[in-house]
Amino acid sequence: MTNFAAYGVREIRDGIAAKDFSAREVAASCLANIAAADTEVHAFLEVSEALALGQADKIDAAISEGRLAECGILAGVPVAFKDNMNQLGTHTTCSSRMLAEYRSSYGATCVEKAIGAGAIPLGKLNMDEFAFGSSTETSYFGATRNPWDTGRVPGGSSGGSAAAVASAQACVTLGSDTGGSIRQPASFCGVVGVKPSYGVVSRYGVVGFASSLDQVGPLARTVEDAAFALNAISGLDLRDCMSKDTQTDFTARLAEGVSGMRVGIVPAFMEAPGLDGEVKAKVEEAAENLEKLGATFVEVDLPHAQAAMSAYYVLGPCEAFSNLARFDSVRYGYCDPGHADLGSQYEASRGKGFGMETCRRIMLGSYLLSAGVYDTYYYPAAQVRTLITHDYRQAFEKVACILAPVTPRTAFRFGEISDPTLMYLSDMFTVSVNIAGNGGMSLPVGLGADSGLPVGVQLISPQFKDENMIQAAAALESCYDHVRIAPGFAEGKAGAR
Ligand code: GLN
Repeated sequence: MTNFAAYGVREIRDGIAAKDFSAREVAASCLANIAAADTEVHAFLEVSEALALGQADKIDAAISEGRLAECGILAGVPVAFKDNMNQLGTHTTCSSRMLAEYRSSYGATCVEKAIGAGAIPLGKLNMDEFAFGSSTETSYFGATRNPWDTGRVPGGSSGGSAAAVASAQACVTLGSDTGGSIRQPASFCGVVGVKPSYGVVSRYGVVGFASSLDQVGPLARTVEDAAFALNAISGLDLRDCMSKDTQTDFTARLAEGVSGMRVGIVPAFMEAPGLDGEVKAKVEEAAENLEKLGATFVEVDLPHAQAAMSAYYVLGPCEAFSNLARFDSVRYGYCDPGHADLGSQYEASRGKGFGMETCRRIMLGSYLLSAGVYDTYYYPAAQVRTLITHDYRQAFEKVACILAPVTPRTAFRFGEISDPTLMYLSDMFTVSVNIAGNGGMSLPVGLGADSGLPVGVQLISPQFKDENMIQAAAALESCYDHVRIAPGFAEGKAGAR
């Protein structure tokens, strides 16, 4: 059976429009493939078969009635959503026991927009609990495995989103990124992951982690596919007060190349202790490739970026503490039975409903916001944020985008990193981008020389100039012809017809 999830957006849309195959065939092939392939990967927490087939039939009906124009830019494209995004007719668990039984009562804007653009919704994807983590190991429902090596993590927190695309179980997925959660798993799984500028995609209906940093974005196998998806899900939404009407066509500059483009490189990132040689070599190779394509490199300084991790691990937990207060076992969430008073019900329900890392973030946030402590930590972290934002503004006066590593190393083995502070270092090159509200994306550039595992490079753009990094990424992508689907998954696992 053909595995249509291995196709690109344009291929699927055009094929359906030309009646080479139907949306129902696409949906059915993807569902059969997931049933076979996901036993190895565990990217999906829920497969929404009825929703997928229903949407496919709607598209097929529109095509057969000649209403092609109504079908949208993702017509027939198999997508799946991170499980912190509400979708009518599905559970939204955030990979937590706390929300294991929760069913969405409405749809997130990004989900509704993707479906409104014709996407076929295959299901909901595994993640680190409430998006805290870099490995998907903190999921209450068990970890997702990296399709390139199932003994290794797919990254996180959008590990299911990256693994589903890398194993050709979906063409496009949506993830969320608060400190690196789209870019780091994209890098670990060898796919494209775009965290747009803060405000480009509405977060309405997406369970909040740190609301001043959270952003939704697409993961896909090519820059073009990601740009199509971003066109579908972006735009002003008055239900997210930080949403911005960018009116950008993210596909507009895909073919423009980088001739004459000034690209920044941050020496402190390249010399960072902990950056693996094979990752550094890939970033240098990408720089050479961009130069060959006509870009000019300029060294830029981000003098306060070294404080980004500290600021992030103050601001993030403080906001998470506040956002997670709503899971009180009364209005939402797991309720531990048999308690005589509310206090002990809260304590037992939250104690049992949240996993260890989530409890750690809540307790840290609670402490950091307490009287006397607030001034020592939260206030300086907010000041650091202003300084980092200013650093980036100055850098972007000289360059159109910045090339950097995504993450210091390739995918690690399960259980390899047990110290939470070492896990946090996965995000050393990504968090400053969220802090400043810029766009950032990971582009796969082949396999590392030592590990043989996928490596991504990061492109960073000024806020609301995401098309700059997409333009550079599309040009750079043309220098690599490596496969984007992990070995053994392209043909699908559903067997011959
Ligand atoms: N890994 C980071 C953290 O644990 C980032 C998570 C994210 O972007 N959601 O906080």
